[in-house]
Amino acid sequence: MDEFSFIKSIKQQFYRQSTLVKGIGDDAAVFRQPFSDIVTSVDTFVENIHFRKDTMKPFHVGYRALTANISDIAAMGATPAFYLVSIVIPTTWCDAEIDDVFRGMHTLASNYKMDLIGGDTVSGSELTISITVIGYARKGSICYRHNARDGDIVFATGTLGDSQAGYYILTNPGDYMDADYYIRSHQMPEPQVNFASYFHHFSRVAINDISDGIGNEAAEICAESNVSMILEDEQIPISDNYHQFLPELQYKWKYFGGEDFQLLGTISANDWPKLKKVADSIHIRLTRIGRVFTEDNQHNVYLKKNGRKYLLPKKGYTHLK
Ligand code: ADP
Ligand code: MG
Repeated sequence: MDEFSFIKSIKQQFYRQSTLVKGIGDDAAVFRQPFSDIVTSVDTFVENIHFRKDTMKPFHVGYRALTANISDIAAMGATPAFYLVSIVIPTTWCDAEIDDVFRGMHTLASNYKMDLIGGDTVSGSELTISITVIGYARKGSICYRHNARDGDIVFATGTLGDSQAGYYILTNPGDYMDADYYIRSHQMPEPQVNFASYFHHFSRVAINDISDGIGNEAAEICAESNVSMILEDEQIPISDNYHQFLPELQYKWKYFGGEDFQLLGTISANDWPKLKKVADSIHIRLTRIGRVFTEDNQHNVYLKKNGRKYLLPKKGYTHLK
């Protein structure tokens, strides 16, 4: 397929966002927004670094790449509206596969009323997808990492370690309980956009999305807020059949596995019961996993396990090491 017909094939039939003035089809896209703060981020997804063709179908590659981007917008307490896709296509990927990559993105995007408004298409040696997402937030209501304060409650949504468990099942075939659930958590994780849309009701929430594992994410909040945290091992939310995996794998995945795209956050002890109520009302699992403190004058993350206190290392996945 030539570039022209390719772009025609990925262009939406209609747009959902009323603020859009011009989508695909000119030198740049245009949208108009007088009332909100505009939130934007970019993320890149590379074959054999972020995903492998044997554990993800092309549809999942697209779905999963856009999830990571939307999740960053949710982690600011914002709502995603637009995305732009820059894609490098190698000859090892056929037209039907690339079509499926975009179908994966379109499927997720339509769930959140997002529009694809532009991008760039080039050929190259490795499938690389770089997505820019644009979202909106109420003025002044962004959930910065620097928002944590002494005495706050630390919370997490969903359950942790499931994406890595799914990857493990895909690469170590065998008999597992809830295999489909874990595989889906790896291939089609859901960004926490709905829950994030309620944060503006609270005066101060710090949020990080769990892309690298809570070891890293908690450390980033602590560094930006100049606080420490203590997490309780028994409180870390895990799925019903998580105990079927070896204890060292359970530990590794839930603290350092990442890619669950759940949210880790802090909120004042006063506001915690109200946040919990919100989560219950929209059927989001929300767990109190620790607290923020400043007595040690550090910005460390501690883990309380079997009555003892450890420093939790930040060994999530880091590039360019
Ligand atoms: P230009 O030559 O002006 O850079 P292109 O021919 O690259 O324009 O793109 C034409 C239109 O198609 C633009 O609106 C651009 O944003 C859009 N487009 C190109 N590639 C993609 C893509 N991978 N995803 C979404 N939109 C794309
Ligand atoms: Mg141009």
